[in-house]
Amino acid sequence: MPWVNGEMCTGCELCVDECPAGAISVEQEVAHIDDTLCIRCGVCHDVCPNEAVRHDGERIPEEVESNVAWVRRMLSNDYYSGDTEKRGALMERVERYFRKDIKVAEKTIERLRAMAGD
Ligand code: SF4
Ligand code: SF4
Repeated sequence: MPWVNGEMCTGCELCVDECPAGAISVEQEVAHIDDTLCIRCGVCHDVCPNEAVRHDGERIPEEVESNVAWVRRMLSNDYYSGDTEKRGALMERVERYFRKDIKVAEKTIERLRAMAGD
């Protein structure tokens, strides 16, 4: 989903006026996008004079760090302390969890490609 970098946004409301889905509002001089309303048309990217509307891909490093921090937190529990076997089993479970997301994404993309040809 598009997202707004609060430090780059001046609250000019240009994107609010141009958004065809009424998905953007400005609060305290920063634009916010309501993901439930956004139809991903890309207009906000095009109209923003400050390039404050950013793309999903830029969040990958941040999301990876958040995932790693989540696993680190679990590993810091006494349950895993010094137990290589338990730690290894957790890693396998977590890997399965993320691989499931890959499968969901692949299958979704397959369906969407078929839908585009309808
Ligand atoms: S992508 Fe389109 S619908 Fe979504 S917030 Fe931007 S202008 Fe609105
Ligand atoms: S057009 Fe850009 S700077 Fe103006 S409110 Fe929207 S995101 Fe912020």
